Amino acid sequence: MTLTGQMMDQPLSISALIEYAEKYHGDTEIVSRRTEGDIHRYTYADAAVRSRQLASALQKNGVEPGTRLATLAWNGYRHLEIYYAVSGIGAICHTVNPRLFPEQIGWILNHAEDSHIFVDLTFLPLIEAVYASLTAKPTVVVLTDRAHMPDSSLDLVCYEELLAQGDSSGFEWPVLDEQTASSLCYTSGTTGNPKGVLYSHRSTVLHAWASCMPDVLNLSATDVILPVVPMFHVNAWGLPYAAAMVGAKLVFPGAGLDGPNLCELFSNEGVTLTAGVPTVWLAVLNYLAETGGNLGVLNRTVIGGSACPPSMIDALQDKYGVRVIHAWGMTEMSPIGTIGAPKARHVANDSFRPLQEKQGRPPYGVDMKIVDADGRDLPWDGKAYGDLWVRGPWICSGYYKPEKPDPHENGWFPTGDVATIDADGYMQIVDRSKDVVKSGGEWISSIELENIAMAHPAVAEAACIAARHEKWDERPLLIVIRKPGAVVDEAELLSHFEGKIAKWWLPDAVLFVDEIPHTATGKVQKLKLRERYGDYLITSQVTV
Ligand code: ADP
Repeated sequence: MTLTGQMMDQPLSISALIEYAEKYHGDTEIVSRRTEGDIHRYTYADAAVRSRQLASALQKNGVEPGTRLATLAWNGYRHLEIYYAVSGIGAICHTVNPRLFPEQIGWILNHAEDSHIFVDLTFLPLIEAVYASLTAKPTVVVLTDRAHMPDSSLDLVCYEELLAQGDSSGFEWPVLDEQTASSLCYTSGTTGNPKGVLYSHRSTVLHAWASCMPDVLNLSATDVILPVVPMFHVNAWGLPYAAAMVGAKLVFPGAGLDGPNLCELFSNEGVTLTAGVPTVWLAVLNYLAETGGNLGVLNRTVIGGSACPPSMIDALQDKYGVRVIHAWGMTEMSPIGTIGAPKARHVANDSFRPLQEKQGRPPYGVDMKIVDADGRDLPWDGKAYGDLWVRGPWICSGYYKPEKPDPHENGWFPTGDVATIDADGYMQIVDRSKDVVKSGGEWISSIELENIAMAHPAVAEAACIAARHEKWDERPLLIVIRKPGAVVDEAELLSHFEGKIAKWWLPDAVLFVDEIPHTATGKVQKLKLRERYGDYLITSQVTV
């Protein structure tokens, strides 16, 4: 018979994170670039007091546990207060991606039936455009003070006035079951309608804990963290929680996600760690090349969301001394799945650089495997590739109010990615299963072709798609934006692939364009490229 352990039964909770930061790191700063145009500074102690005040105000306004409250906001201190206040009272902080099309935003708000929408000044027109279609008629709260309240056709509530209704001193966080839902984030839904992933207090705290580990992000009270990844994209990869867990200074860039604004914050605030998708770094590196600037004391950056091109790893590490932490994850995984961290022998013989191009190995808490079309395990030899399946306490077990049946397979979540795993457990994404080029029954990795193209000095951005082909079904078509002023033609670019890939992987054609479309989360929109250029190899025509 087993014995029950005699340790305290304390549920993991999000409110305990901000309470911890207040008590042990109360004077650590949180700095935000505001939509009002200025820089705002306060401390974890201030953030904790205002989060309690907002929580109390929401309760006074009738917000019940389980209610969904939406945000349409940049990274900033008020958004952080909403994260803690809403989840802390057992309601659900539903972050909405403002870069989605208005119809998608309307669809998501109706699906979640939000009671409130907290909106930054910048995004008010978006809500005004969709409000008539919203069935729950949510209260619209503008994230500003009375002096900056805009005119609107809608009835608006001023955030600072709402907050002033609350009483922070008389308020205590309720004790919640750790499985209580805490936040909600929809995947961008490149196919079909968006799907809601409903995180819990337990999953959020465990994920934050894991991200602090040395071989994950190695976070500490001495760090200054600037999440470029938006708080509306998988909770800024969990950084607002993990930073509070260790008492790291937080720097929020607001709407200033361009090279000049980011570099100014990096150096003025002493940022040591940042995180974002590769497209952000394209802009920052271009800006640095133009201005001859540097990245201050920044010493590591987490890059994920799409494959980090090797040329970007080299530029950041060799030129600017910033270690690249290549990471892979998904909205469904909170998001951390794997992280590129070396093992002892890679450090001893300085052999980690090539492995950084892989997506990394899982931390404790994530289990993964690759399987064939019949769900049978494939070998971990770094060569065999198959569907990547995952499981763990911060991986979703089903979608919120799903339209389709649960996708799980015997307790595993099929990621939709195709990958290899090597003997040490390092995983490499070959492709998203819907993006892989299926040429005569064999698979070609669009990511690998893009990485090679991106290493050419004249290439600013490259995307590879499966174009229809009469003989082979599909063949790779490379779509390229040249760097400003750079000269390169198809023959030269294709010769750059020689010796780097098997001959039959060589793209059938290169198409030079001025623009490559991106999704709301900064990934290349391959679906759109396929619609536009999918018949190019059959007709050499572009469908507009
Ligand atoms: P969506 O874009 O559908 O909202 P996510 O932002 O959750 O979804 O993206 C998850 C997907 O992004 C993964 O399944 C994978 O295909 C891709 N991805 C994330 N990180 C990486 C990476 N480092 N390398 C390659 N692909 C990545």
